[in-house]
Amino acid sequence: MIVFDLRCQHGGHVFEAWFGSSADYESQQQRGLLSCPICGDTVIEKAVMAPAIGPKGNQSREHTPSQQAHESTAPSGGGTAPSVPMTALDPQAVKSMLNALATAQAEALKSSTWVGKDFADQARAMHEGDIDQQPIHGQTSLDEARELIEEGIGVMPLPFPIRPPGMDN
Ligand SMILES: [Zn+2]
Repeated sequence: MIVFDLRCQHGGHVFEAWFGSSADYESQQQRGLLSCPICGDTVIEKAVMAPAIGPKGNQSREHTPSQQAHESTAPSGGGTAPSVPMTALDPQAVKSMLNALATAQAEALKSSTWVGKDFADQARAMHEGDIDQQPIHGQTSLDEARELIEEGIGVMPLPFPIRPPGMDN
């Protein structure tokens, strides 16, 4: 197939027509079989120097919007919920993990000094350099702990509640 841009002599309308070959176009043109789709003029000539053979570019088909496939490429709106793999924890595994954590805490507290309610004061004093640095644990309020953290003093809650010394009796 070959496409020519044709133009009617009467109205100067330019239109596009497909032919089986260049000879096919010439044959139809000579027999007056070509006519302007706008004004019906049968005196038709090539509008431009179209290539003798070969397809034309896509530009010549811009005026055929009806052929454009209106495909919807939009996502189906299923959302983008992340698929978080859920693992059912083995109760035994949790138990052993907690035991390990409790053991770690107990080991850490072995070298730590119980200061009871003096915790905040002691921690602050160590931070200020008033007393030697040493691991301590004790009791403090949530507000006090928050203040210590804001002052840059490293405190953290114990993962497990402990029985303060002196309360055994
Ligand atoms: Zn015309």
